[in-house]
Amino acid sequence: MTLSEACLFGEKRLEGAGVPEAGLNAWLLLEYASGCTRSRYYAYPEELLEEETEREFRGLLEQRCRRVPLQYITGVQEFMGHSFLVNAQVLIPRQDTEILVEEALKYLKPGMRFLDLCTGSGCILLSLLLSCPEALGTGSDISRGALQTAEKNRDRLAPGAVLVESDLFDGIEGVFDMIVSNPPYIRREELPDLMEEVRLYEPVSALDGHEDGLYFYRRIAGESPSYLKPGGRLYLEIGYDQGVTVPQLLKEQGFCEIEVKKDLAGLDRVVKGIYKGN
Ligand code: GLN
Repeated sequence: MTLSEACLFGEKRLEGAGVPEAGLNAWLLLEYASGCTRSRYYAYPEELLEEETEREFRGLLEQRCRRVPLQYITGVQEFMGHSFLVNAQVLIPRQDTEILVEEALKYLKPGMRFLDLCTGSGCILLSLLLSCPEALGTGSDISRGALQTAEKNRDRLAPGAVLVESDLFDGIEGVFDMIVSNPPYIRREELPDLMEEVRLYEPVSALDGHEDGLYFYRRIAGESPSYLKPGGRLYLEIGYDQGVTVPQLLKEQGFCEIEVKKDLAGLDRVVKGIYKGN
């Protein structure tokens, strides 16, 4: 089979299985299996695939037909211009979460201590440190599997980051200038409606915000004041329909100057607040 035949074959196979963006997915899997670049593909579309490569490509297509996310197959996802290792132990970093990082970066300065709760792959923690290398960042996650992945990313991207296995603040010591988090925030009854890639393969513990989706926000808003310096800030990613409830929770816990930021689609995405202290 030639490169161009393989691409077409892959597209048809994925299309038949109802995979969205079948052509793009087929190309990316072919690129992954063969190591062929886009420019090489255009220069030599008639190049023959090695038998071994073809077998691998077909295997990858079958995985994708079962709706395994592309990123779990290739093992990487780009976030804030950096390449993060991912696997089924961690949520795949989302572009929407870059808004949270960009907002936090407006405040983060060298020498500041910050904490990333529910760090997952470490994408927020490590992106912040890559943009502000003289800040001191700690990430926590309850999942050991997630932390192992975060550790690999840390070692490649920002070796100074500290990672702690912890149920939110349980294993955390000291006070911080800033706390950031993209906690699980999907309402439990909505979990079955998620697209198959997410529902079948992404870790449910990274998605499930319990009954009303606000379980982790309640805990974070309640406990953050004990871990923030006076004037310290809290930045949270939220779901599109949580732009009223989450600011309310922060207000109840004594946060002020609370603001909601929208994502590129114009939906509420990030809440920030300042804790002035008692
Ligand atoms: N902090 C990680 C991310 O934003 C993981 C979030 C989570 O597990 N809910 O991708």
